[in-house]
Amino acid sequence: MEKKVRVRFAPSPTGGLHLGGVRTVLFNYLFAKQHGGDFIVRIEDTDQTRFVEGAEAYIFETLAWCGLTPDESPLHGGPFAPYRQSERKPMYKQYADQLIQEGKAYYAFDTAEELDAKRKEINNFQYSQATRGMMKNSLTLDPQAVEQLLADGTPYVIRIKLPENEEVKFTDMIRGEVVFNTSQVDDKVLLKADGMPTYHLAVVVDDYKMEITHAFRGEEWLPSAPVHVLLWSYLFGIDNMPKWAHLPLILKPDGNGKLSKRDGDRLGFPTFAMDWSDPKSGETTIGFRERGFLPEAFVNMLAALGWNDGTGQELFTLEELIEKFSIGRVHKGGAKFDYEKAKWYNQEWIKKMHVASYQHLVAGFFKANGIEVEINEKFTQILEMVKERCVLLSDFVAQASFFLTQPETIDIAAISPKWDEKKQMFFVELIRAYELSTLWEASDLEKEFKELAAAHQLKPGELMLPFRIMLVGGKFGPGVFEIAAILGKEETVSRIKSVLGML
Ligand code: GLU
Repeated sequence: MEKKVRVRFAPSPTGGLHLGGVRTVLFNYLFAKQHGGDFIVRIEDTDQTRFVEGAEAYIFETLAWCGLTPDESPLHGGPFAPYRQSERKPMYKQYADQLIQEGKAYYAFDTAEELDAKRKEINNFQYSQATRGMMKNSLTLDPQAVEQLLADGTPYVIRIKLPENEEVKFTDMIRGEVVFNTSQVDDKVLLKADGMPTYHLAVVVDDYKMEITHAFRGEEWLPSAPVHVLLWSYLFGIDNMPKWAHLPLILKPDGNGKLSKRDGDRLGFPTFAMDWSDPKSGETTIGFRERGFLPEAFVNMLAALGWNDGTGQELFTLEELIEKFSIGRVHKGGAKFDYEKAKWYNQEWIKKMHVASYQHLVAGFFKANGIEVEINEKFTQILEMVKERCVLLSDFVAQASFFLTQPETIDIAAISPKWDEKKQMFFVELIRAYELSTLWEASDLEKEFKELAAAHQLKPGELMLPFRIMLVGGKFGPGVFEIAAILGKEETVSRIKSVLGML
């Protein structure tokens, strides 16, 4: 029987989630769901020096925002709990001990000072086959000395003993066969002095214990793969190793290197999923969510960073992605990030979706701008009217706030040069006509407006711009009679009057 597909996202809670991290989640998730499998989130927090308060909660909030719900996690529970490595600490040591007994790992007693001294002495020092012979470890010390050091409680780490000049291979689902020579890999620490495993040991033990069948992770983890392959073959059998896919990097817009948070800050676009406030520095990094991205657009845009379905289709719902995604169509090469394209996705999704599904988000942007809104039919109607003009959800504020509050500024300069007595008369009469009007549909208002213009021997075209500016404050917005229809009689008339008073 085929094993049930089980994938995992294994973040270290060290800060905000970069868009590359969310893409890793997405590809894991799509693969799992396509195969009727499970998507697991495991928190890799064994490096307590890098632990950041709030980072784990941030990760789960991001996943919830994107609609990528884990089947198992510290938050969602599951049969393989606990899902936080720090809570699994007692599970790992036995494997490090086993490797020592089998001669595949060794104790290293070098102090931090001794290691520092070596780093100063040797350029690019690595604890490896070439250098381990000159260090203080159970390979260089005699067995009795080692026993004594252990009995005295001397701090030690356990390091993997990389075999000499061996080829380590595995088949990557994106890259095909990947080969490493063990002489190029250092003797990574497996168990630290505080008894915590390092990432390398913990990731292998947990992928085994949690019955992970496939694992997609960023390309930056490729150099660690030979250590993991060796650990798999030493501890659990290479046939049980999950199938790996190392996802291509997300590159800077110019293609020169990996996209970093700093690039986003420098070029003025988000690189994090949501706003992240660093608890230590207090610095806030802007996120896609707060910039006004719809989660549907964000997810769609991420899927396109390195993948396409080969048909030219660009807009995909999550359901369609689950159906169409294939790891075989993920490119090996890095994917350039293009913020303009990201915005294009958002604009398309704003147009494609009914505003009812995102108006609560838009209401949040109004609120942030000091405009309280009630979500009702009128609000929906207003948003529907202006959505074609919005690229980000935050754009609704500029495009539609004049419906909800009086315009803050009126572009009088756009009217006054061509203003004259005749136009003044027209608008005075328009006020009267509209006040008497019993019908208030856009078409009625337009008809009355045009008839009155004809009576005044004025071209409606010359009057529409002043009318628009009276209602919205500037040269923008949807059809002016539609605007008046929504504003209602009282507000329309009052806005005309107030601008007439300024001219
Ligand atoms: N804990 C690693 C990280 O922070 C996980 C890498 C992996 O997926 O193996 O990304």
